[in-house]
Amino acid sequence: MQQNVLDTPIEYLKGVGPQRAVVLKKELQIFTYKDLINFYPYKYLDRTKYYKINELNSGINAEVQLVGKIIRLKTVEQKRGSRLVAVFTDGTAEMELIWFQGHKWIKENLQLNTSYVIFGKINNFNGLFSMPHPEMETVEEHKKSLQSALQPVYPSNEKLNQKNISNRSITKMMQQVFIETHHLFKEVFPESLINELRLLPKNESFFNIHFPKSADLLNRAQFRLKFEELFFIQLQLLSKNLVRKHKIKGFAFNIVGDYFNSFYHDHLPFPLTNAQKRVLKEIRIDMAHEAQMNRLLQGDVGAGKTIVGFMSMLLALDNGFQACLMAPTEILANQHFAGIKELADKINVKVVLLTGSTKTKERNQIHEDLENGTIHILIGTHALLEDKVQFKNLGLSIIDEQHRFGVEQRSKMWKKNSLPPHVLVMTATPIPRTLAMSLYGDLDVSVIDELPPGRKPIKTLHFFESKRLQVWHFIKEEIAKGRQIYIVYPLIQESEKLDYKNLMEGYEAISRDFPFPEYRISIVHGQMHSKDKDSEMDRFVKGETHIMIATTVIEVGVNVPNASVMIIESAERFGLSQLHQLRGRVGRGAEQSFCVLMTGNKLSADTKVRMDAMCRTNDGFEISEIDLKLRGPGDIMGTQQSGVLNLQIADLVKDQDILKLARTKAIELLKDDINLEKPEHQALKYVFEILAKKNNIWNYIS
Ligand code: ADP
Ligand code: MG
Repeated sequence: MQQNVLDTPIEYLKGVGPQRAVVLKKELQIFTYKDLINFYPYKYLDRTKYYKINELNSGINAEVQLVGKIIRLKTVEQKRGSRLVAVFTDGTAEMELIWFQGHKWIKENLQLNTSYVIFGKINNFNGLFSMPHPEMETVEEHKKSLQSALQPVYPSNEKLNQKNISNRSITKMMQQVFIETHHLFKEVFPESLINELRLLPKNESFFNIHFPKSADLLNRAQFRLKFEELFFIQLQLLSKNLVRKHKIKGFAFNIVGDYFNSFYHDHLPFPLTNAQKRVLKEIRIDMAHEAQMNRLLQGDVGAGKTIVGFMSMLLALDNGFQACLMAPTEILANQHFAGIKELADKINVKVVLLTGSTKTKERNQIHEDLENGTIHILIGTHALLEDKVQFKNLGLSIIDEQHRFGVEQRSKMWKKNSLPPHVLVMTATPIPRTLAMSLYGDLDVSVIDELPPGRKPIKTLHFFESKRLQVWHFIKEEIAKGRQIYIVYPLIQESEKLDYKNLMEGYEAISRDFPFPEYRISIVHGQMHSKDKDSEMDRFVKGETHIMIATTVIEVGVNVPNASVMIIESAERFGLSQLHQLRGRVGRGAEQSFCVLMTGNKLSADTKVRMDAMCRTNDGFEISEIDLKLRGPGDIMGTQQSGVLNLQIADLVKDQDILKLARTKAIELLKDDINLEKPEHQALKYVFEILAKKNNIWNYIS
C-alpha cells in the first residue's frame, strides 16, 4: 500500500499534469512522488530578509526579496513581440519588473498600489535595476505561505525557467505531495539506533528538509538524511565483502616455507620497516584463508611496496603456486623485472618478463614453461592477460598502479586458474580515506604509512617562467655535483601533436642551453617505439646521460636513485596528485632532492593552492585530501563513471565524519544480525534489497 502511493507517476499530482510532467522527467529525473520528495533544495534563503532597492548592487547574484508597490504599467513594443514593464517602488528608489510572456494574465491580475513581496534575480543595466519574471505574492498571501524563515531553493535550469517551472511551483508541488502522502513515510531505522544517535524520524526529516521549521530542525533533517544515504551504501559494500568471503573460495596458503624463510633470513637487502612488516602479516593471514584475497596495498611513492609484493609471491611459491606481477607500462615492467630478478636469483626462483616487445619465439617458450611450471614468477604488462598465457597453477596476481587498469582486466586475472588467484593491487596514488571507504568498501585495504629510514625530504620550489635562467643555473650546479635531472612536459590529451610539438621545442631549447658533449640528454615520449624508449631510459639509468626529458610516461614507478632533481614544466597543467606522483620519482637516493615547479607568471586561485600545497608538504595523504577538495571526488582517478558518487545529499568532502559514523554503525549492525533477520531490521532490509536489486551503484568493482 505504502509503495503504491509513493510510486504514483508524477503527472497525477494535483497541479502537475502531463505537460509539466514531461519537463520534470526530462530535466530533473522526477518520475514519481517519491522522486519529488527526494529532490532536495540545494540551499535556503532567509525569508525574513528584505532588501531595499537602494541597497541593491551589481555584486548580488543570488535571488533577492523586496516589498513594495507597482505604480505604473506599460507595454513596450519591440522587434519580436512586446514586453510588459511595471515600475516598482519601495520608497527608497524605483526599479522595473519585466515580463516577456503572459502579459495578458498579469495585466488582468496585478493590482496597482497594493503591497507585494517580489522575489527573483536582479539585472543591472546602466545603473537601473530590473527583475525579469519575478515571483509575486501580496503581503497577505506571503504571510500565509511563510511556513518558516528558511525558504528552500531547488536546483533549476534554463529549460525549467522557460517552461515556467519556478522555485515557487516546485515548492507548491512539494506542499501538495506532502498533503497527499505525508503520513506514509515509514521509518527504516530500528528505534535503538534512532535513540542512540538522536536521529530525527524519517517523516520529520523529509518535512524539514523541504519546509524547515527552524535552523536546528533543518540541521537535524540534513544529518539524518545524509546518514541514511551513506549508511545504505556502507551496508551494501560491507555485506558484499562478507558475502564474497563466504562464497568465493580461494587457495589457502598455510605454509611459510623455504623460499620465504631463506630470503627473509639470509638475503633481505635491508631491514623492513614496521609498516612493511605489519602489511606483510596482513597479507599472509588473508591468504591463509580458504577465501580469495582481494586486497588493496596503498603506500606513498617510495614507501617500499615492491619488496612486500615480492615476499607475498614467495608465500605463493612455498605453497606450490606460481605468481605474477602486472605493471601498466613497459618501462615499469622492465624495472620490476630487473629488481625482482636480482632478489630472486639468490634463492633460485625463476622469473621471466613478458611484454608487447617479447619476440614470438621467446614468447612461445614462456607459454610452455608457464604451463609446465618451470617459471615461478611472471612479470609483465597487460600482455599477461592474453588468453594464451596459461599457468600450471597461478596462486597470486599482483597488479601495480591499479588505476590504469579497468575492472574488466582485473576480472580476466580471476580466470587464470580453477579457483581465482589471490589478488593484491598496489597503488601509489594515495586515495583519501573517505573516498577509499566509499569506493573500496568491498576491498580490504593495507596501508604502508612509513617511509624507509634515512630519506631526506624532497625540497619543492615554485618558479615563474621569468626566472628560468636561475633554474638553468641550478641544474648546471647539480649536474656538476654528479646528479641527474628529469624535465617533464605535460601531456595534453586532446592533442598528441601539440604535446609532441611542446616537448620537441623544449628539447631543442634545452639542447642549445646544455650543449653536447658537455651535457648529454635522453628523451622519452609516447610516440617512440618501445625499443627506443627502453634504450633511452637505459642510458639514463646507467648514468650515461645527465638529463631525461619526458612526457608523463615516467610518472609511474621508475626508479633512478641518482636522479635528484625533477623539473616540471607548465606545472599549472597538472593535477595535484599527478604532481605528487612525479615528484616521487626523485628522493630515492642519499642526496638532497629537489622538485621545481615551473609555471607561467599568471596563476589562477586554484593553481596557487596547488603550488602552495606542493611546496608545503610531502605527505601524499594530505595532498590527496586537498586534491579532493579542489576537484571534487568525481575527477579523482576517473571515478566519474562509478555511480557511487552520485550522492543525493551527502558530500564526501564535507561529510567525512558522518561517513565514518555510518560505516561504524553498519559494521555493528552486520555483526549483530548479518542476514538482517531480526524483526526490528525488517524495514531496513526492505530498502536494502531494493537497492541491491538496482545494483547500478555498486557493480563498478569486481
Ligand atoms: P614504491 O612503494 O614506490 O613501489 P619501491 O618498492 O620502489 O617503492 O621502493 C623504493 C626504494 O626503497 C627501492 O629502492 C627499495 O629498494 C627501497 N626500500 C624499500 N624498502 C626499504 C627499507 N625497508 N629500507 C630501505 N630501503 C627500502
Ligand atoms: Mg612501485
